[in-house]
Amino acid sequence: MEEATQPKVCRCLLRDMTGENDYLRSVERYRATMPRRLRTPDALYETRLACCRDCEALQNGTCMQCGCYVEMRAARSDMHCPLTAPRW
Ligand code: SF4
Repeated sequence: MEEATQPKVCRCLLRDMTGENDYLRSVERYRATMPRRLRTPDALYETRLACCRDCEALQNGTCMQCGCYVEMRAARSDMHCPLTAPRW
């Protein structure tokens, strides 16, 4: 009997994925052109992404709780982790 192949799931950010990564470029452009008052400061942005990297809900750069690319969601200072007990 043939074993079913599971789709490859990676608990990684878009920036960790190799090869062509148009989604990452879109996120970087989004962050770079965002008004400063809305942009999460760099250090806090990295802290947020570190929390996502440790989270079971992260799959291939996407939060399975909300469907967002976490690098996009974390970029806005007024956004929060969607968990009932938010990680950031
Ligand atoms: S936004 Fe929250 S729930 Fe989603 S991957 Fe990040 S830490 Fe996990």
